[in-house]
Amino acid sequence: MQPGVAMNRILAQLIKLAISFCVGLFIGTAMMIHYESNSFKPWSWDSPPIIANCYGDDFNELYVVRAVDYWVVRDENISFIVNDPPQSVCEKDFLDGFIIFKKGIMPNDSTLAYTKRKVRMGSLRAATVYFSPGSFKLELLIEHELGHALGYQHLEKEGHIMHPEWGKMGTDF
Ligand SMILES: [Zn+2]
Repeated sequence: MQPGVAMNRILAQLIKLAISFCVGLFIGTAMMIHYESNSFKPWSWDSPPIIANCYGDDFNELYVVRAVDYWVVRDENISFIVNDPPQSVCEKDFLDGFIIFKKGIMPNDSTLAYTKRKVRMGSLRAATVYFSPGSFKLELLIEHELGHALGYQHLEKEGHIMHPEWGKMGTDF
């Protein structure tokens, strides 16, 4: 066999490998998206997260405790609440093991708050909830966002805590 032929075979093998990797990645990503959009709770935490309240002084601890209680009686686990976290925690977008509450700029006028989640190897690693100024005072909004941080998606059922519209949220779960 000539060296050139051997090189071509190796190249052909490498191309095949690269193609199957890309197809695998594509199928994997498509399956993840399908799973996330078809499951009410696609993700969970491996160990109970810590809540760091980085919003500021006016976001009273009692608001956080109330929202945590809502989920604790529904079998979710929270480690503990940190009310005055150090700057090293609050300056981060994500911190593994933490749900961070922050004041944030909303993507549009109709958004009151939103939650970003970091998922690795099928588990929740970190979540950050952004509130528009004062929106934490709206009834059930913290409970709703904490629901996202714990892995829940929306459910269009009137009176349900995970209803996407604030006006139609209720305490049902
Ligand atoms: Zn929501």
